[in-house]
Amino acid sequence: MSSKKKQLAILGSTGSIGTQTLDVVKNNPSLFKVFLLSAHSNHMLLFNQAKKFKPKYVVINTAVGYDFLKKNLNKKHTKVFFGAAELEQLVTEKDINLVVNGVVGSAGLMPTVCAIKAGKNIALANKETLVVAGQLIMNLAKQHNVSVLPIDSEHSAIFQCLVGEKNENIHKLILTASGGPFLSVKKSDFKYITVKKALKHPNWNMGPKISIDSATLMNKGLEVIEAYWLFNVSMEKINVIIHPESIIHSLVEFCDGSTKAQMGVPEMTTPILYALSFPKRIPYKTDVLNLAQIANLSFLKPDFKKFPHLKLAYDVLKMGGTAPCALNAANEVCVEAFLNKKIKFIDMIKIIEKSLENFIFVAQPKLDDYLYVDHETRQMVNNLISRS
Ligand code: NDP
Ligand code: MG
Repeated sequence: MSSKKKQLAILGSTGSIGTQTLDVVKNNPSLFKVFLLSAHSNHMLLFNQAKKFKPKYVVINTAVGYDFLKKNLNKKHTKVFFGAAELEQLVTEKDINLVVNGVVGSAGLMPTVCAIKAGKNIALANKETLVVAGQLIMNLAKQHNVSVLPIDSEHSAIFQCLVGEKNENIHKLILTASGGPFLSVKKSDFKYITVKKALKHPNWNMGPKISIDSATLMNKGLEVIEAYWLFNVSMEKINVIIHPESIIHSLVEFCDGSTKAQMGVPEMTTPILYALSFPKRIPYKTDVLNLAQIANLSFLKPDFKKFPHLKLAYDVLKMGGTAPCALNAANEVCVEAFLNKKIKFIDMIKIIEKSLENFIFVAQPKLDDYLYVDHETRQMVNNLISRS
């Protein structure tokens, strides 16, 4: 019955996570209904999605996109809104049951805050939200009795391993990392890395920003911080292991020596579906593991010298306060500059490290402090880039 359907607000519907979330919805029309879709600039794709899924609202961030959608969408089915401020209002609508956040970058923070304050459960792919303001988000979620359900595959794996377990029995969280496209490239050859090569992830097909983060291993660093806030364990208990096949999505070691792992083919629809259907599991047609064909799984220790981004994430987590927020902002600006060919692959870490010598540290930040530090760090890093 339609009243039983979970009504979804899908933020970043035009991205890799957003489109895969819509695939899950398309394949489960009796369970899910799209209430709201939001995108940044890709108004043509948003238009096609709106025609197909008939959401009550769409939100777009460009004036040209807004005009196009206003003109071409049937307003009997779908109302069109413009920009971040409207989105922050719309995510609080009473009919929304779950907000799926597939936005990239710290732009995902404010709609998450607004949705949590309105008591909405969050299916979170946007890891930057937790990296920037993990403490604030988890406190708000507790205060408003809201679930933050991870979509990131490693965190979904840990979340699944922890069902029925007690937090005090966790000995270690072990995040797996594919190692990215440059796992076996010599550090001395990193100076030759091009944007095209860095975008070519061996196992996953993702948006450009997370693909570059996977190539530097910053993605794993951000995920360490994400795990810290989601699972409430000390940072010493969060470990990373390189597992090039991306079959084990992460593991939890318990105090009695037992280790649980969650496995599956490297496909985001599985963790998306889990977050959408939790606490239930629902049947879904997808590829399953053929272990005999896979035959071997391999593991190795991460090389912190070769991939200093990962070490930096542990460092800022230890510093606390606004340090992870500053790291995230510096990284976002550097990744964009690398994608636009303004700086080289090896420049990213130098500029990020330089910016962390001089960022604004607030030990007990409030929301405004995070927004201020995010803004100021971006400006500082842009200056560093234009001078480099
Ligand atoms: P994409 O780049 O593919 O998509 C990003 C989405 O966010 C698009 O819909 C884009 O709109 C929108 N967007 C971009 N900038 C803004 C902005 N300033 N304000 C509002 N919306 C914006 O990214 P992914 O889907 O790959 O990643 C999304 C998030 O999920 C990231 O945080 C990533 O780390 C995380 N994640 C992704 C995985 C994956 O497999 N892709 C796996 C695990 C986590 P438009 O395209 O219309 O401009
Ligand atoms: Mg991940």
